[in-house]
Amino acid sequence: MKLIFIGAQGSGKGTQGKIIARKMSLCHISTGDLLREATGKLAEEIHGYIDEGNLVPNELILKLLKQRISQDDCEKGFILDGYPRNLEQAKELDKITKIDYVIEIDISDDESVKRILGRALCKKCNINYNLVTQPKPANPEKCDICGGFLERRVDDNEEALRKRLEIYHEDTEPILEHYDSIKINGEQDIKDVSEEILNALNE
Ligand code: AMP
Repeated sequence: MKLIFIGAQGSGKGTQGKIIARKMSLCHISTGDLLREATGKLAEEIHGYIDEGNLVPNELILKLLKQRISQDDCEKGFILDGYPRNLEQAKELDKITKIDYVIEIDISDDESVKRILGRALCKKCNINYNLVTQPKPANPEKCDICGGFLERRVDDNEEALRKRLEIYHEDTEPILEHYDSIKINGEQDIKDVSEEILNALNE
């Protein structure tokens, strides 16, 4: 099965992408993670876009995505988290593969700002925490699981976030009409959002 999760910054599409991928034995592909993992000269170019809250060029992300979905662990299908981000990317994706379902995880801009400005990530085991909402770490500086230091993403500041939200509303939301998407209420507990997604997929 091939799924796309779409949602504003902080909607939980990454968290849900990981949970649902594990439950359904699918591969979870976050294009943001693919970009952040780039090294060398390419990384410098990429960070220029990401840190300012802008999208990287379509050709660049498409090339990385094509390489990723052709790997063996994607054979049973995948969940795309962060792609497509505009109509041009959606049309490029249509040429490569057929998507079964598109899930929109809906939250308000106010909720997005609250969640993103409190977000902290363990660099060692890649777990997301939130110092304001959930899941809150026992110690605000350290990971509950491995004890690694929690860090903020460079683009999780108010200025970059406002730009990212603007791009989301202007460029990404029109994709929802391109597909016949399923809307899920993202302002619930993590487990309730997962349950709603699984129920929608089983219907
Ligand atoms: P995310 O981790 O999904 O919040 O993505 C972080 C950043 O990576 C975005 O703000 C963009 O700069 C870049 N990015 C991720 N996915 C895409 C994409 N499909 N197209 C262009 N830029 C992307």
